[in-house]
Amino acid sequence: MDRQLLQQLPKMDVLLTHPALTAAQGELPYHALKEAARAQLDGLRQGILEGRITALPESGVLAQAVITQARAACRPHLRAVINATGVVLHTNLGRAPLGEEAARAVYEAARGYSNLEYNLDEGRRGSRFSHVDKLLCSLTGAEGALAVNNNAAAVFLMLSALAAGKKVAISRGELVEIGGSFRVPEIMARSGAHLIEVGTTNKTHLSDYRRAIEEQGAEILLKVHTSNFKLIGFTEEVSVEDLVALGREKGIPVFHDLGSGALFTDPALGVPDGPTVEDSVKAGADVVCFSGDKLLGGPQAGIAIGRKAYIETMKKNQFARVVRIDKLTLAALETTLRFYEDHALAAKRIPTLSMLGATREELRTRAEELAARFAEVLGERCAVSTAADVGEVGGGSLPGVPLPTWVVELDPVGCSLDELEKALRGWETPIVGRIRREKYVLDPRTLTEADGEEILRALDAILR
Ligand SMILES: *Cc1c(COP(=O)(O)O)cnc(C)c1O
Repeated sequence: MDRQLLQQLPKMDVLLTHPALTAAQGELPYHALKEAARAQLDGLRQGILEGRITALPESGVLAQAVITQARAACRPHLRAVINATGVVLHTNLGRAPLGEEAARAVYEAARGYSNLEYNLDEGRRGSRFSHVDKLLCSLTGAEGALAVNNNAAAVFLMLSALAAGKKVAISRGELVEIGGSFRVPEIMARSGAHLIEVGTTNKTHLSDYRRAIEEQGAEILLKVHTSNFKLIGFTEEVSVEDLVALGREKGIPVFHDLGSGALFTDPALGVPDGPTVEDSVKAGADVVCFSGDKLLGGPQAGIAIGRKAYIETMKKNQFARVVRIDKLTLAALETTLRFYEDHALAAKRIPTLSMLGATREELRTRAEELAARFAEVLGERCAVSTAADVGEVGGGSLPGVPLPTWVVELDPVGCSLDELEKALRGWETPIVGRIRREKYVLDPRTLTEADGEEILRALDAILR
């Protein structure tokens, strides 16, 4: 231990008067700088006592370390990350990223006043619902539309407003858990609706619903899309068309929780095949609910569309106020929806759709370009290769639909895959990739060009 060195340690108050630190007070709160200074000095003291440190850093270097630490402590907890998993709708990573235009609309709505509930033509109070309902109707062919906080809320509002005290028939194969403890039977119970289970887990026939109506007095038919899993094998479910035909015959409505509602599908534009909102409306469902941030590619929101009378009843329900959509979401949702007026434009400008539409050939080109850049900079420090792979859509959307892709595979020299994964995750802009087949795998589907450069910067620093 070097007593002299201990005595040379600057006092905290003195350290804090270093010009770099006084300058940093314009940017960082004083208490954060003080905390960081204390931690740095404690670290040095400990190092000296243990004999690890035999020379003090220059005051400029120490001041810089304090600033770096203070900055890290002040960083927002919710941060941008780089999604290298290739899972487009990654629920843990925030589901659908917004496009440039939608993000800008959020910014505009956030930083000033807006006509959120003000009718500009008439100069008086307007409705928050007015901004997207006509657009939603024209895009889906429905008579009425309502946007709320998320789809769980849309479903709950639908049941509370339209099914409380009523008997609702649903297939046993559709009594699903969506995640985050949103379970259909429990949501039904909470809404005041009475659940009548029909059919079996793997097979439900139209006759099962008919019996539920005739023998058990079911007053509403509910279909829930099993969007986060796929039942395969000996299975049968009843289509919305058939449910509607039965409902019409018996004079009872059919509700449909579609979950991940796509507004259109067009394999030629790279928009994967799957059930669309319009199909459900065309089939005659009376109310259809779906998410804003799944295949739609917009902000977190829940959308209910359907017969005008039902939607109006939902709008007037007390619970509608509890789950109302906020202005930032509305701004993003409207901007996203407007692209859908032209399918080709939507396929290009809505990131979820453009990422899903990337073909294996396109992704192969991007993977190979990325790999070449990595190999050039990293040289001997990391083996870089590319390979064909199969990804998934994610976010409880299109389960079982394979997404052919092409990935970059890294095998670092001098550090383990787990260490590399952890270091990338701890990077300034955290990078989330996957370890598979003894390689660290990056899927270009969810990466921008700038992301690629940032990953390279991280790898270059980490593998130094
Ligand atoms: C995802 C999903 C929900 C919940 O939607 P959120 O927008 O996440 O609240 C409800 N029902 C189904 C069928 C879903 O797939």
